[in-house]
Amino acid sequence: MFSDKDIAHFSNLETPFYYYDLNLLERTLKACEEASSVYKFHVHYAMKANFNPIVLKQIEKIGFGADCVSGGEVKKAIEVGFSKDKVVFAGVGKSDKEINDALDNDIFCFNVESVQELQVINELAEAKQKVAKVAIRINPNVDAHTHANITTGLDENKFGVNSWDMPACAAILNISPNLEFVGIHFHIGSQITNMDVYKNLCIRVNEFAAWFEDHGFKVTILNVGGGLGIDYHNPNGQIPDFKSYFKIFSDFLEVKPYQEVHFELGRALVGQSASLISKVLYVKNGKKKNFIILDAGMTELMRPALYQAYHKIENISPKSEVNSPESAIVKYDVVGPICESTDCFGKEVELPETFRNDLIAIRSTGAYGEVMASHYNLRENVQIVSSEEIK
Ligand SMILES: *Cc1c(COP(=O)(O)O)cnc(C)c1O
Repeated sequence: MFSDKDIAHFSNLETPFYYYDLNLLERTLKACEEASSVYKFHVHYAMKANFNPIVLKQIEKIGFGADCVSGGEVKKAIEVGFSKDKVVFAGVGKSDKEINDALDNDIFCFNVESVQELQVINELAEAKQKVAKVAIRINPNVDAHTHANITTGLDENKFGVNSWDMPACAAILNISPNLEFVGIHFHIGSQITNMDVYKNLCIRVNEFAAWFEDHGFKVTILNVGGGLGIDYHNPNGQIPDFKSYFKIFSDFLEVKPYQEVHFELGRALVGQSASLISKVLYVKNGKKKNFIILDAGMTELMRPALYQAYHKIENISPKSEVNSPESAIVKYDVVGPICESTDCFGKEVELPETFRNDLIAIRSTGAYGEVMASHYNLRENVQIVSSEEIK
């Protein structure tokens, strides 16, 4: 929700811009921290969701680690101040350079996604006379019941090592003096809202942990990944239900006294803390469709074009005729200016009758929003505004 003061401030700014509500971010981080510390669970922030420095600073301050999926993210995490022993590095295609840089930085752990990658890390670590800590990212074949494009833990997905390759992993680990096995890692998908999915994951984690221990490996880290969803339909001040989420893992994971449970949350920590604020350039009323054409497009927010993601769209113009109860409700396709038909934020969106220069808020854009912005069509960098500026 935006105050009159926020909206008055927005009216004087150039659009489009991402507006970050740092107060909501802080409350969300605290809620997660409190709910996880009840069970002594460790949280790493999945940086790819949002690596804006104003966001990273707050997350680092609360004491979470960093979950990285590229050499660039590893570098950024360390620059921002995340302690190296809380930096983990996942990714299905780590290059030799990325692995070497991470070895030089003595990060906490590589989450390894193939048998061949284990061999490569061992070779590169040997050349540096180092020992690399590794966890095996296992593809547990658990259905995350989320959008197919953000499912990662099924046999047909490219991520992780499949169950039938566990013996090959064990064999490599046994003959690789430059690898230290620390545990097992999972991440089965994103925007998961069905809590039974996590229960199914826990059962598989228990099975794989037992398998490794039966084969002579000590499993000290159980990393269950991230994926907790947010409520895109109700964005106002919503903090995800971290208590229920962590309780499921406490109830269903079999954790030995020497084992640590690690989480990698991205979307749930940052998703609700931003909105993309845009202005209406034109309104086109057609026979079949009414269009609102915004000055923001898929170059600022790609999720709808990339995986038909839903974001709540609101007309937040201060003008009384827009928000008055009498104003007619009209169905619009809300689109951007980019020369692509998929550049559409929502179809048949019910809004009060809307006019040129009205302010439009696209909500819940803190995760996978700004970080996916591009320069397609030679668009300029999207602007950033934080709640601190309006105080
Ligand atoms: C993207 C990612 C996450 C975070 O996913 P969210 O759905 O944003 O919580 C966690 N772990 C890994 C390995 C990832 O790639």
